[in-house]
Amino acid sequence: MNLPYAEPYKTKMVEYIRPSTIQERKRWIKEADYNLFNLSSDKVFIDLLTDSGTGAMSDKQWAEMMVGDESYAGSQSYLKLKETVKRITGFEHFLPTHQGRAAENVLFSVLVHKCDIVPGNSHFDTTKGHIEFRKASVVDCTIDEAFDTTTYHPFKGNVCLNKLEDVLSRNTKDRIPFVIVTITCNSAGGQPVSMENIKVVSGLCKKYKIPLLIDAARFAENAYFIKTREAGYENKSIKTIVKEFFSYTDGMTMSAKKDGLVNMGGFIALNNEDVYKKATVYNIMFEGFKTYGGLNGRDMGALAVGLDEATEFDYLHSRIKQVAFLGEQLVEYGVPVQQPFGGHAIFLDANKFVPNIPRDEYRAQALAIQLYIIGGIRGVEIGTILADRDPFTHKNRYPELELVRLAVPRRTYSLNHMRYVAAVIKAIYDTRSKAKRGYRIIDEAPIMRHFTVKLEKIKQEAVTI
Ligand SMILES: *Cc1c(COP(=O)(O)O)cnc(C)c1O
Repeated sequence: MNLPYAEPYKTKMVEYIRPSTIQERKRWIKEADYNLFNLSSDKVFIDLLTDSGTGAMSDKQWAEMMVGDESYAGSQSYLKLKETVKRITGFEHFLPTHQGRAAENVLFSVLVHKCDIVPGNSHFDTTKGHIEFRKASVVDCTIDEAFDTTTYHPFKGNVCLNKLEDVLSRNTKDRIPFVIVTITCNSAGGQPVSMENIKVVSGLCKKYKIPLLIDAARFAENAYFIKTREAGYENKSIKTIVKEFFSYTDGMTMSAKKDGLVNMGGFIALNNEDVYKKATVYNIMFEGFKTYGGLNGRDMGALAVGLDEATEFDYLHSRIKQVAFLGEQLVEYGVPVQQPFGGHAIFLDANKFVPNIPRDEYRAQALAIQLYIIGGIRGVEIGTILADRDPFTHKNRYPELELVRLAVPRRTYSLNHMRYVAAVIKAIYDTRSKAKRGYRIIDEAPIMRHFTVKLEKIKQEAVTI
């Protein structure tokens, strides 16, 4: 019998969220300089800004908060987490950090040097930021299919082997400290990478004697897609699949705020002892002693439980089905969204949604602002503002895709919330022909400008007949 899916958990505590009016929101977003990061959360009704650190912990994780061992050195919670990371990922060495970018900062302090090149599949913004900050650069080797939102490909996060081999063969080994594969690929729309692809990329890296790292923020969601889309994995458990893909690689950086099911945390796990030793020095300098790395003992305990819960099929199934439900509603309404749906988010295709708004007026940002004004929904621009300026020419970089990401926090919102979001977007879509002008930047930071950028609205000209 084919029964519908239902969440494998029930609610033990609720948190009220605050409705507001369109008039209020128009005022608030102007006061926030049209930057959704500047809004205080009480002015947001449904917060889909990010799935990072915004999920709900389980009762078992909260129980860990009570038994956390806050010893400076040798904390039992650290040992519990270390054992769990080893069991789930297979990596020998482990360093806790306060979040994912801290893991990048520590590890890249060891590995990345000036003029280096780091190939990968659409590097995440903090990953790219930490590489470019060291005067090195990234090369995006994602397959071309990732940039066409209309075609179906089960693993749009895959690395294009020709593009990768091109980079590896044209540069000397010492200029490429590692290849980094992001699973699932956030910047390409939460799209998964296949086991086959990881295996072949691993082979290519071995051929050129270059380490392969995984940006593992959503590794469990990636494993779900392998199980449900890749031949030969249907009957394997999520934990078996996870162990297999990590076995093809040399290490990982982790933002535990995603598939760690915690509100704060991260870690590095790897096999190379020499790199581990060097990274430990930076960890002590930037994060904290190697047995806490900027985390409380209780946080490490909750993360250990979270890693186990996140790698259970029933949880992943309900999570990914909920995201797909939002996507399916939008498709039914004719709204252009990236397909297949990503694991953690639905992406609106702003190039198709509001093509009349010029690209240099940040059309995806304009659409994100409209979602907030009409429905109190906070999404995020994944487009020109996020792409930053070229570090050498200081010109805007126009990415192929202009997206608005609606990231769904884990175990947090109901299907009714998803229905509401879809209805608001439909209302905006039905009046989209009126949107002709966007925004201009009045203040921006030199790197990762999207967090602090200030914008002003460009007036629509009065229509003259
Ligand atoms: C969130 C994220 C990071 C950075 O992690 P933080 O915990 O936000 O610092 C790195 N890579 C990917 C793919 C991410 O999604």
